[in-house]
Amino acid sequence: MTTPERTKKGRRLIIAMDGPAGVGKSTVGQLVAKDLGYFFVNTGEMYRALTWKAMEEKVDVTDESAVMSLARRLSWEFLPSENGSSLKTYLDGESVAAHIRAEDVSRKTSAVAAMPSVRQFLCDLQRRLGQEGGVVMEGRDIATHVFPNADVKIYLDASIEERAKRRIRQLRSSGHPAQLASVRDAILQRDRNDLERKINPLAYAEGATLIDSTRLSLHEVARKILKIVHERQKR
Ligand code: C5P
Repeated sequence: MTTPERTKKGRRLIIAMDGPAGVGKSTVGQLVAKDLGYFFVNTGEMYRALTWKAMEEKVDVTDESAVMSLARRLSWEFLPSENGSSLKTYLDGESVAAHIRAEDVSRKTSAVAAMPSVRQFLCDLQRRLGQEGGVVMEGRDIATHVFPNADVKIYLDASIEERAKRRIRQLRSSGHPAQLASVRDAILQRDRNDLERKINPLAYAEGATLIDSTRLSLHEVARKILKIVHERQKR
């Protein structure tokens, strides 16, 4: 695994953020990371990247040992985005960003994310990326499993209608136009898979702050989180 060098200034926190699909975790996480000079890590990108690569290489995405041997064979790199605030996933030297948002990748990612050995493998990478602090990491099990001792834990939620609208905007901006009804159904299905998964399901972590963003702008949510972070830094 390759990661960039970081400079250490003061105490740099681990901020863990979980929540269901389409809730705005990425946008909010990037805003918070940029403000603090931290790295933002989107862990869904890693599950999506492995699923996309498996589909590309005609690996059966329901075959756990085949998916795991692919995961081990790949070279995983996490390099800063152009604006420097996010760490982006590269597999075998290639950025995965242009490939991983397609609906068929989203659908198949749930199956890959339910595989215990895949979760263990990616969880190890995530811990190595975040262990020195100075990171905002988002996913489904970050505060419950990856960093249960994170300095700040946030559970972000919003109504299904609002989340479907946000996902549509995100898909359109990355060149994947979609219909509201089908996006809504796909989100509900993914929520069910993530909530009902046996290993590390989406859950509210002990000590987390719940933020309902249905009626808040994502900038307002980021400001709320920054306030919590600043309080935590004073302790
Ligand atoms: O966050 P995003 O919707 O891009 O994540 C894609 C999928 O990856 C989720 O639906 C979930 O199944 C899986 N995932 C996970 N654990 C994480 C992050 C994502 O299971 N920490």
